[in-house]
Amino acid sequence: MDFNSILNHSNGSIYWKELTGNWNVFVLKTNIAMQKLLNFKSIKHFGTRCVSTSKFFLEFNTRPSKKIHFSKNPVGLFGISELRGFEGFYLLKERCISRTDDLIAEAISQKRDRKIVEIFDELSDTLCKVADLSEFIRLSHPQANYSHAAEDACISISGIVEKLNTHRELFQSLKGVVDHGDKFSTTDIDNHVAKLFLFDFEQCGIHLEEEERKKVVHLNECILYLGQRFMSGAVNARSLNKNILPENIRHLFSIDGDKILVSGLYADSPNSLAREAAYRLYLYPDPHQEELLTDLINSRHELATTCGFPTYAHRALNSSTMETPENVKEFLEILSEKLRPRAQKDFDIMQKMKLSDGGLNSPLCAWDTPYFTSRMKNKYLQISSQATEFMPFFSLGGCMEGFNNLMKSLFGIRLENTEMDKGESWADDVYKLCVIDENNTLLGHIYCDFFERTGKPNQDCHFTIQGGKRLANGEYQNPIVVVMLNFSLGRWNPPLLTPSMVDNLFHELGHAMHSMLARTEYQHVTGTRCSTDFAEVPSVLMEYFASDPRVLKTFARHYQTQEPMPDEMLRRLCASKNVFSASETQLQVFYSALDQVYHGLPETHRQNTTETLKMVQEQHYGLPYVPQTAWQLRFSHLVGYGAKYYSYLCSRAIASWIWQEYFQKDPLNREQGEKYRYNCLLYGGAVPSRQLVSNFLGKEISAQNLANNLINEIDEHQANMKI
Ligand SMILES: [Zn+2]
Repeated sequence: MDFNSILNHSNGSIYWKELTGNWNVFVLKTNIAMQKLLNFKSIKHFGTRCVSTSKFFLEFNTRPSKKIHFSKNPVGLFGISELRGFEGFYLLKERCISRTDDLIAEAISQKRDRKIVEIFDELSDTLCKVADLSEFIRLSHPQANYSHAAEDACISISGIVEKLNTHRELFQSLKGVVDHGDKFSTTDIDNHVAKLFLFDFEQCGIHLEEEERKKVVHLNECILYLGQRFMSGAVNARSLNKNILPENIRHLFSIDGDKILVSGLYADSPNSLAREAAYRLYLYPDPHQEELLTDLINSRHELATTCGFPTYAHRALNSSTMETPENVKEFLEILSEKLRPRAQKDFDIMQKMKLSDGGLNSPLCAWDTPYFTSRMKNKYLQISSQATEFMPFFSLGGCMEGFNNLMKSLFGIRLENTEMDKGESWADDVYKLCVIDENNTLLGHIYCDFFERTGKPNQDCHFTIQGGKRLANGEYQNPIVVVMLNFSLGRWNPPLLTPSMVDNLFHELGHAMHSMLARTEYQHVTGTRCSTDFAEVPSVLMEYFASDPRVLKTFARHYQTQEPMPDEMLRRLCASKNVFSASETQLQVFYSALDQVYHGLPETHRQNTTETLKMVQEQHYGLPYVPQTAWQLRFSHLVGYGAKYYSYLCSRAIASWIWQEYFQKDPLNREQGEKYRYNCLLYGGAVPSRQLVSNFLGKEISAQNLANNLINEIDEHQANMKI
């Protein structure tokens, strides 16, 4: 990740839906009983490491197109009969309201005949089925009448949730069970999930005196408003008098009359002066953004203390793998100390590159690192920008076949591309995959919305449409997810991917498989609905597989000749991925530490957010702060992540540990895959992630252990790096 990707939040590695959604207690989760029966007789088995052109290869190398269904009536979006027309959202919403009323009555009744956690999960599921589906359709449907109807449904559900969140009888009923136990016998998982529901409930202050509760509601509204304003301000271009720039670099910027427009960091510009100018101008402190950020941080602190937490970070880290801000601090400090000399090695190399690059005798600065990192990567890839040499070896069909074979090797699971019914999809070029276990059990569906489309969000993400859950009748409600990517078809046919697109594909499919393989009793904790600092583990782990030559060899073949990628290219590709990993990790440590300080005790803050940044930068980053700049005012992740930005580093450390412990020796080992599936993925968020991970790894998840794994990996990269 570089400054540019941070600032434009174009990093495709985050599953945005979960992180930016503002649905609370009931609506973070999903569902719908639309399990389609499969004709298992038609299922074909794929060879574990097949190298010929398979059906899967061909299917994904052919863009799905509009099918003509002569006789069939449309089935409705996702096979939901109500959604044969956009008016169906109204029906779904009405039905949801009526079912919600029944479930509330059941939950508060003295005569209820099932566990309270089961009723709550069904309540949450009922709301999520409509809310998550509507949210997805609102964002993705190309037709305005659908997205408007979906938006109306989202607003209605929001209204129901607001009412539920002030329903004291409902709250008391749950609280009674959490404090004194249920009248039915419960398991550890039941108790854990009930506690999660209670914690979510308390986010709206329902447990407080009326005066304080109103304050919490007001603060939540303020935080939402400030966050939205801050995020929109964070990407504003800066307009300045063009004379501010030296004449020889003006032509590199957009000019409008007497004004120049600086809309980003120009991190890729080979012109050092242009990079410097863009950095200083784009990041020049904006007093309005400063005010918004300060107000946001203060409001969050007030919210946390009103709810009884010492700081906002303590509140945000509830049920996380790290558990407390103190643990996060320790993790970051150990990493920081170990990274300093290692990152310095990277900076020394970059400094040499800078000196030999145009002979400028100036020190390496913050605006140089993304540029020289990408230059070094390109040196390995031997290309100037797009990895065109590699792309013919990564046709979409080839990559999907590779992923399918990996799933088969590790878990005995196969993905099957399935024809969709009329009206089932929101766009013509979507694929639908059935995920099928070895014994032919259907585990769920993944809809693949992979191609660019006008109006489609330009984010790579994973959406849960329906979470896995045990139903009251004993059947299992299978998960349904959408993986959204933005491949451009361009002049290529079939679609050919760059190495970084391959990483993104594996990453997002990693989230999808987490959703499929977690077979939780409750949808509140299905798959990716686990703590934020664990949620990226399965997806980041998939990137390790996608970066291993032994795995790449199983699918990186020329789409026309079927020739495998030559070893020398494989070697360069893998080496390019680990360039300057120490300095990149150090940057992430610095960002994470800053996020922690902002959301920690106010006594640790300086007079404004820039002074605090300066202090944290000196402590954690190897390059000095550039006076009169304030990149934090462009750092919109502070809104979505608030005190959880460290999650990516934490997930990476755990994924790295799992990789080293289980897969590095043999990445296609079934036995190890089974252990990972049944001892880790299976639980989703049903077991506290700290406990889950330490049981799986057989070691304590201490700050020291986590940091050590990342450092081991970085040392390996540095040793392998040949300049
Ligand atoms: Zn992700």
